[in-house]
Amino acid sequence: MKKSFRLATLFNIPIEINYTWFIVLGLIIFTLARGYFPYTNPELDPASHWLMALIAALLLFASLLAHEFSHSLVAIHNNLPINGITLFIFGGVAHMEKEPSSPAVEFKMAIAGPLMSFFLSLLFFGLTQVFYILRFPSFVLSITNYLFMLNLVVGIFNLIPGFPLDGGRVLRATLWHFYKDIRKATAIASGFGKGFAFLLMGLGFLNLFTGALIAGIWFIFIGLFLREAAESSYRQVAIKKFLGKVTIASLITKDVISVPANTTLDQLIDNYFFKFRHHSFPVVEDDQILGLLTLHLVKEVDRSKWAKTTAREAMLPLNNSLVISEYAEAIEALPKMARNKVGRLLVIEGDKLVGILSQRDIMQLFEFKSEIEG
Ligand SMILES: [Zn+2]
Repeated sequence: MKKSFRLATLFNIPIEINYTWFIVLGLIIFTLARGYFPYTNPELDPASHWLMALIAALLLFASLLAHEFSHSLVAIHNNLPINGITLFIFGGVAHMEKEPSSPAVEFKMAIAGPLMSFFLSLLFFGLTQVFYILRFPSFVLSITNYLFMLNLVVGIFNLIPGFPLDGGRVLRATLWHFYKDIRKATAIASGFGKGFAFLLMGLGFLNLFTGALIAGIWFIFIGLFLREAAESSYRQVAIKKFLGKVTIASLITKDVISVPANTTLDQLIDNYFFKFRHHSFPVVEDDQILGLLTLHLVKEVDRSKWAKTTAREAMLPLNNSLVISEYAEAIEALPKMARNKVGRLLVIEGDKLVGILSQRDIMQLFEFKSEIEG
C-alpha cells in the first residue's frame, strides 16, 4: 500500500490517495454514466449522464472522506495520534500509531465512521425530498438519491462485525470490555472477519459460475483483502501480548560461526554454507564485526567470479538496520528484520559480536507462548 500520493492536509491530517482508488473511481463513473443514470434519466443525452456520473462520484468520494475523518477526529480527541488517511480500493484507512487505550475509546472511534455515513445518508434523503417538493430538475434528484443509497450501503457494510471493519472493531471493543483481554477479543473479532471474508469469496465464486464475472471478481478480491487484513491485525496484537516483555538476550544464539573477511565465495560455499547450513554468516576481521553475508548475496555474484570475490566484497556492510542491542525488546527486532529483509540481526555490544538473532527464534517463542498462554 505504498503507491499513494498526497492530496491535501485537513485538520493537520494528511490525506493520501492510493493509485488503486482511481481504478474504482473510473469504474464507478463508468457504471453510473453507462448503466445507472441512463436508467434513471433516459430523457437526457450521454454527455449529461457522464457529467452526472462525475458529480456523483466526487460527492461519494467526499462522503468516504467524511467517514474516515470522523474516525480520525474521535481518535485525536482521545489522544490517539493519526498519521494520515489513505483512500484506496474500497474505502479508506486511518493510520493509527498505536492501538486504542481502552474499549470505550475503540468503541467511540469505530462507531463514528458508520454514524457519519448514516448521517450523510439521511441528509441526502432529506435533500432529495426537499428538491422534489421544490420541483428541482430530475437529474439533481437522481444524484442526491444515489448518495442517499450509497452512504447507507457504506454504513451497513462497515458495520458487519468482522475485524478490522468498523463493526468488527465495535465487536472487539465489546468483547474487550467483558473479557478484559484485548488479545482474546481480537482473536474472536478477527475470526468473524475471516469468516465474512470467506463468505464474500464464496459469493464471488458463485457469481463467477452464474456468469456475473465483474461482480464475482470484486467479491473475491474484497474477500481476499479482508482475510489478509484480519489475519495481520490479529498477529500484531498477539505478538505485542506474547512478546511484550521478552528481551533479546534470552533469544540469541551465542556460539556464532563467523567468516573471516578474506574468505573467497567458493571457499565459503563449501566450508560454511554446505557445512553448517545457515543462511547467513557474520563477517569478521581481527575480532571486529564488519557485516553480514547471506546466501542470497552470494548468489547475486556471478558464479565465475566466486574464486576471486571475498566475503568482504559481497557482504552487507554493518549498518543500523542490521544490529540490535541485547537489552532491546524482542518486539523492536521484528520491524528491523522486516526492513533489512535478511530476517536476522547481529546482536552487538560496543563493536563486539555477542550473538545472532533470527526471525525464526522469535516466531518459535511466539508460537510456543500462544499455545501455552493463548
Ligand atoms: Zn470506517
